[in-house]
Amino acid sequence: MADCLFCKIANKEIFSYIVYENEKVLCFLDILPLARGHLLVIPKNHAENILHLKEEDLTAVFKAAKTMTKKLFKALKPDGFTIGINHGKISGQTIDHFHLHIIPRFKGDGGGSIHSVVKSSLAKNFLTEELESVRVKIIKVK
Ligand code: AMP
Ligand code: ZN
Repeated sequence: MADCLFCKIANKEIFSYIVYENEKVLCFLDILPLARGHLLVIPKNHAENILHLKEEDLTAVFKAAKTMTKKLFKALKPDGFTIGINHGKISGQTIDHFHLHIIPRFKGDGGGSIHSVVKSSLAKNFLTEELESVRVKIIKVK
């Protein structure tokens, strides 16, 4: 897509610290890393989010994520990883080209778990009946 930063990175019109690529995906270091080795996995084809990703690109992204997690583990010896996707503005998505963050985690890095990204009391107080009504809503969708 013409005005997309990550399309430009995928097409090598803009420099990035590339660590891996194949026909379908590009992996490069996040320019404002949250940790040593924080990288992004993107499909070379433009897609705003997971709902727009073609199946073959989705598969390629998650295969590359596994490859990169293995490489990061060997290269930097982190204690763990947080792997995640910001989907939509509310979640913090700032670039409308799908990207998967792989963030190496180190003891004492001060970060939290995925559970710390939502702070509403609602999220902490779901009752069993609410879980059931949510389950029914989801399974009704064709
Ligand atoms: P998100 O908030 O999930 O949309 O994440 C976008 C990420 O892209 C941020 O972590 C940025 O630091 C990163 N980013 C923005 N511009 C560049 C760039 N030119 N090269 C590498 N990473 C970038
Ligand atoms: Zn794009």
